[in-house]
Amino acid sequence: MNKTRRPLIAGNWKMNHGGPTGVSLAAEIAALARAVSHTDVVIGPPFTALAACAAECHGTAVGIAGQNMHSKGSGAFTGEISAAMLKDAGCTWVILGHSERRQLFGETDGAVAEKTVAALGAKLLPIVCVGETLKEREAGETLRVVKRQVDAVLDILAQDAASVAIAYEPVWAIGTGKNAGPTEAEEVHEAIRTWLNGKSTDLAARTRLLYGGSLKPDNAAGLLGCPNVDGGLIGGASLDVAQFGAIARAAEAIASGTPGKS
Ligand code: PEP
Repeated sequence: MNKTRRPLIAGNWKMNHGGPTGVSLAAEIAALARAVSHTDVVIGPPFTALAACAAECHGTAVGIAGQNMHSKGSGAFTGEISAAMLKDAGCTWVILGHSERRQLFGETDGAVAEKTVAALGAKLLPIVCVGETLKEREAGETLRVVKRQVDAVLDILAQDAASVAIAYEPVWAIGTGKNAGPTEAEEVHEAIRTWLNGKSTDLAARTRLLYGGSLKPDNAAGLLGCPNVDGGLIGGASLDVAQFGAIARAAEAIASGTPGKS
């Protein structure tokens, strides 16, 4: 199946590889990215490795993402980092509203919205993360929760022409080895596409919807092949170049219309 949007395969390294091992991993990923010309590859190292990884990937097809940022441009915010600082470090992307930020650091929909405004204002492309907890899924609340999270950024994304990404990451699937099946994932992705379309057909067409949550080489083809899944946000498997490469090649096979090639 050839899809209209280029797939985006993004790695979220979380609090791993913040020094020289991160630069080595970035170099290995830059090498594998040469083999996937129909697929965009992005890595999200910790802050301490951003500039070094960006230098390592300079001139390659690999984009660099911050994992978080503050909504203000500067000031007395100890330990925080602004959108402009991410740009200075070589980022073109920023992951916003990851469930770990929401759950462990109390990030609200409102805070994610403020960060989205700041990111777009600095010409950083946000990957806005949304997703329900296990309790919410079991209570039949999945679409209501995800819609609330998407609604918080819908006007902001519609007002800007940037080709942003939204990552649907069911919280119960992150780092657990349990993934949403293609049917479960597509149901939510299709709903998100419909909500985007209700706001603006252009927004729906230009926004890449990523699946995240225990995305691995053995489930990548099924999930990435769903009509409204335009790529993946990958945690654990992004730390292993063989696994990350296999996922990128699965996306590439779908995008280039040669399924089975991996
Ligand atoms: C994530 O943290 O964004 C993620 C999807 O993690 P994992 O792939 O390890 O489930």
